[in-house]
Amino acid sequence: MSYQIQPGDTLSAIFEAQEVPASTLHELLQSDAEFLALETLQPGTTLDFRFDKQGRLQRLSLQIDPARTITYERTEDGPFEYAQHTLPTHWESKVFRGDIQGSFYTSGISAGLSKGQVLQIGQLLKNKLNFRRDLRAGDTFSALVGQEMTGDQPTGNTRVEAISLHRGSHDYNAFLYSDHHYYDERGNSVTPAFLRYPTKSHYRVTSPFNLKRLHPVTGRRAPHNGVDLGTPPGTPVLSTGDGIVKRIGNHPYAGKYVVIDHSGAFTTRYLHLSRILVKRGERVKRGERIALSGNTGRTTGPHLHFELQVNHQPVDPLTADIPTSARVPADTLAKFKAQVQEKLARMQAPSFLDQHFAKAPPESTSDDTASPGT
Ligand SMILES: [Zn+2]
Repeated sequence: MSYQIQPGDTLSAIFEAQEVPASTLHELLQSDAEFLALETLQPGTTLDFRFDKQGRLQRLSLQIDPARTITYERTEDGPFEYAQHTLPTHWESKVFRGDIQGSFYTSGISAGLSKGQVLQIGQLLKNKLNFRRDLRAGDTFSALVGQEMTGDQPTGNTRVEAISLHRGSHDYNAFLYSDHHYYDERGNSVTPAFLRYPTKSHYRVTSPFNLKRLHPVTGRRAPHNGVDLGTPPGTPVLSTGDGIVKRIGNHPYAGKYVVIDHSGAFTTRYLHLSRILVKRGERVKRGERIALSGNTGRTTGPHLHFELQVNHQPVDPLTADIPTSARVPADTLAKFKAQVQEKLARMQAPSFLDQHFAKAPPESTSDDTASPGT
């Protein structure tokens, strides 16, 4: 039985219509607490329900985008088991050009960029110039934007691969490199390094990051996608990087939570909060207070669950290779600069040469971001 989500739908109403008991929905939410995939359902997403002979929900699958499907499979004795299935993906890119008429925001939108891309460009260049004060009518920009594809189908995921803003005789540039970080044409980082910890003091790790964790009771795989820090309730929680608040919410198992999108491929999540201090869509700075830690949702005691994802894949936030360096490493600088020249040439070429999304040349940054496993 398939159901396509309509605007205004709620999960509980959808489950009721499928005659799935509320207790089953709660079991699903429990399995989803580490992933929050059921929190992000968009109109158009298809939910597929499979029932066993007794009419119990056996398996729920949801297609997040054409490349990614998530399944929740009932286990004999325990909760549902979560799995993500990913098809191979690649990136194709296209140049968007425009000139400043009014604000950068309206100019970017009329050039065909999305709201999210314009905001991201603002984040990338905000340390170099003041968008409100410094830009004049007639200044120009070009952006190289990638869209993720599976086969010949766009997944809906996009990324800014390069931006070049020409103001008077100055160029302000940022280029995405294979470490998912942005640098200017000389290889200097354009965004500040990440903080390692989301709190001012460091607290004891009460449960480490572990993708292979086994559930202590059922013995089944129950990955821990973040670290638990033993923060006393009310501890200020800091955004570990500059970013935009993607989502806030209150989940029966994850509790009150905040999700922040950072420049490039990075996302951080903060769970079990007592109070949220930011709004959806708000810009936050590295080190800014976004919440107070707490004990909400299903926990065994007060703590902060902190998570870092690179391209939708969780990594250990305490050991991951996060952008902390200020420059492209010397041994790959020549390769980086060659890519910069190639991108600039494309962005400056006459616009009739670049009307469509095209596969990036093999030497570009898209190489190592091919589809992650499950
Ligand atoms: Zn946790």
